[in-house]
Amino acid sequence: MRIILLGPPGAGKGTQSERIVARYGIPQLSTGDMLRAAVAAGTPVGLQAKAVMESGGLVSDAIVVGIVADRIEEADAKNGFILDGFPRTVEQAKALDAMLSEKGIALDTVVEFVVDENALVGRIAKRAEETAARGQPVRKDDTPDVFKTRLDAYRRQTAPLSDYYAGTGLLQTIDGMKPVDAVSQDLVALLDRNTAAAS
Ligand code: AMP
Repeated sequence: MRIILLGPPGAGKGTQSERIVARYGIPQLSTGDMLRAAVAAGTPVGLQAKAVMESGGLVSDAIVVGIVADRIEEADAKNGFILDGFPRTVEQAKALDAMLSEKGIALDTVVEFVVDENALVGRIAKRAEETAARGQPVRKDDTPDVFKTRLDAYRRQTAPLSDYYAGTGLLQTIDGMKPVDAVSQDLVALLDRNTAAAS
């Protein structure tokens, strides 16, 4: 199964991905996690990405497309993957289409988390508080100011993907404002329906 989780920062894509990897036996490919790892390791990609990530903007399409192209070649992604945080621009979506068609594979579905954007700032503040309480480092881009920039980048650059994937017939939506367990149940029900329909 090859799926994309789409939605603004703080919508719950990462949390829900982590919850479904075991069920479907496919990895979560989070470009945010990969970029943070590159920054922490001080790789050339990390050095290029660091400042723009800290400011809440988007890293260049070329960098991110390159990372994903390499990652989907790895053995654990052969039978599928959950893309979390990618694509984030129409250019990235087109690059992904080209990558997959070259390999003779296709996406199964794109699930958009529909959320009330006004509630997200509060959610992110809570995520930062809980992370700090666990003694873990808080993401530098989880401050209210940077988060607003990320939300703005989402509206301008990523929200058009909703129409892009609606046009391909792949888009499905779930209510991301429900409690975490209820969202997981809805997501699993949706993906199981897709799997049953495909077999
Ligand atoms: P995330 O963990 O998905 O919220 O991503 C954190 C940050 O990493 C974003 O604010 C961007 O700066 C960068 N990033 C992650 N994924 C992408 C992407 N697909 N395209 C461009 N920048 C990205």
